[in-house]
Amino acid sequence: MSNLEAMSPDPSQTGDFASNSPAGRPVDPPPAPAAPEPAAIASGAAANDTIFGRILRGEIPCDAVYADDLCLAFRDVNPQAPVHLLVIPREALANLGDAGGQHRELLGHLLLVAAKVARQEGLEGWRTVINSGAEAGQTVFHLHVHVIGGRPLAWPPG
Ligand code: AMP
Repeated sequence: MSNLEAMSPDPSQTGDFASNSPAGRPVDPPPAPAAPEPAAIASGAAANDTIFGRILRGEIPCDAVYADDLCLAFRDVNPQAPVHLLVIPREALANLGDAGGQHRELLGHLLLVAAKVARQEGLEGWRTVINSGAEAGQTVFHLHVHVIGGRPLAWPPG
């Protein structure tokens, strides 16, 4: 399947978050969020400067598997399993620690897209991981959801 095909919405897979989508549009964005708090603006500016910000701006390539108004999903360049995808918001948030109430719908959307792309890859089970902070292993400070699968996954994680 080409990336363009992969990025086309699949109404049977999009669930509630796309039920009111007009034709030709993958997913309706949630209502306009409240104005971000100053701290979120500051951290967002920092997140823009990451490698994922550069991918979003088209400055460097990625192997995209899904895109819509709110997020982009692409293959991890250093996969830890046969399937390893990243789902990132277009909005520049450093991590979950920078999310507030105004991001409620965006965060739900990212998880629904994570499930969508996992199924798109043929996975029946998968792991979603969101590292928040260097202590948790975060290396790219632009919020991202890892979607990992295609092999047995041990628990607890390292
Ligand atoms: P984390 O350690 O949770 O911050 O995850 C960052 C992930 O981004 C790692 O799994 C990296 O392999 C991945 N990564 C870094 N640069 C790129 C890139 N240019 N394209 C795709 N994945 C990347």
